Amino acid sequence: MRNVVLLGPPGAGKGTLAARLSQELGLLHLSTGDVLRDEVARGTELGRLAQGYMSRGELVPDEVILAMVRERVDGRRGVLFDGFPRTLAQAKGLAAFAPVDVVVFLAIAKDEVVRRLSSRRVCASCGAVYNLITQPPQVAGQCDRCGGDLVQRPDDRPDVIARRFEVYERDSAPLVDHYARQGLLVRVDAGRPPEAVFADVLAKIQG
Ligand SMILES: [Zn+2]
Repeated sequence: MRNVVLLGPPGAGKGTLAARLSQELGLLHLSTGDVLRDEVARGTELGRLAQGYMSRGELVPDEVILAMVRERVDGRRGVLFDGFPRTLAQAKGLAAFAPVDVVVFLAIAKDEVVRRLSSRRVCASCGAVYNLITQPPQVAGQCDRCGGDLVQRPDDRPDVIARRFEVYERDSAPLVDHYARQGLLVRVDAGRPPEAVFADVLAKIQG
């Protein structure tokens, strides 16, 4: 069983891919977003600590994230890290308790990310999420579930998405370099349909 890190900008299809890969390979899928939400919801010591930072609008420090991840990994092998590590410090902290065997980087062009994410619409009444490309409503502009109006969130505007992409590229560069230098990085073209990306990643992880 190998420990796999999945890196890639929002819109690269990371979440869906991680779910499929972990199922196919029998890996424990560890999304730090989910772990964080769960710790906060259960009111654990780490969760309360994290919530303190978040309620002040601050980033949760690396040590807190690392402690949560370490607890989940619990010495086991065969973990798929989704959205983690985010920083070089997190990568070094992770290496101390879980050796990384392969890092998959989902490479995708900014234009494609903008195209995918700016197609997202949400129902103003019930919050259901649609995508005009991959999951359109049956009637244009109308929620299938409740008939409410479909609107674009401010976060899904093309200029906001483009900016977020640039920030991700800048912030993740040291991490990508770090893993490339260690010979662990595998680049996959994520601008293709999910099925093609999945098959490619699977071949590269197993190979
Ligand atoms: Zn609705």
